Amino acid sequence: MKIQYHREITIAALKSSFGPRALQSILRANFAQDSLRYQFGHDHFHFDSSQFDASYAYIEEQRRLVRVSLERGDRDSAWAAFGRLTHTVQDFYAHSNYISLWLDHFTGATPPPPPEVDPGLPEILRSPDLRSGKLYYPLEALTFVPFIGKFFVSWMPRDSHARMNHDAPENSPLFEYAYHAAVKRTRFEFEKTASMFASDLLPRFMDR
Ligand SMILES: [Zn+2]
Repeated sequence: MKIQYHREITIAALKSSFGPRALQSILRANFAQDSLRYQFGHDHFHFDSSQFDASYAYIEEQRRLVRVSLERGDRDSAWAAFGRLTHTVQDFYAHSNYISLWLDHFTGATPPPPPEVDPGLPEILRSPDLRSGKLYYPLEALTFVPFIGKFFVSWMPRDSHARMNHDAPENSPLFEYAYHAAVKRTRFEFEKTASMFASDLLPRFMDR
């Protein structure tokens, strides 16, 4: 997912729950996951290359860090961990074929509009057909070059990140579905994470 959409998705999902200082910390940590040093060898940060188990383990590790950080009074670390978690779950819908599999349920009928997407259908999450785009470096790097990158996309294998991603509206007709699924999932992850620590810590986490 491109940074501008990570921003929009995170704000849409969380602005009613977090104060501005907390939201800024969460956004900063979310964006930092896409820094160059995390683009190589960190597939699990972005649900790339079908590294699903590693991505889920990473999400749960960040959730645990939110709780232990809050318990020791370190809200900055809690917001940062939650920001990293939001990045990974948002990338799931942009980098995997979850949305395509969901739309397959409506073959022959008109699918519901994007705001009605279900981001957590268990049979798709557990489906053997679920996969995410593979990064074919060094060729893949050419597809990230602004303006000219799109010309290299057609050279990439069908299972590549370049061919499979729904990172932006210009890259994929399924972007709107990925976007709305990511908003709903981010909201769900907030509620799940908040259920993991003592409720008296919640106002400190939300900082409203
Ligand atoms: Zn990412």
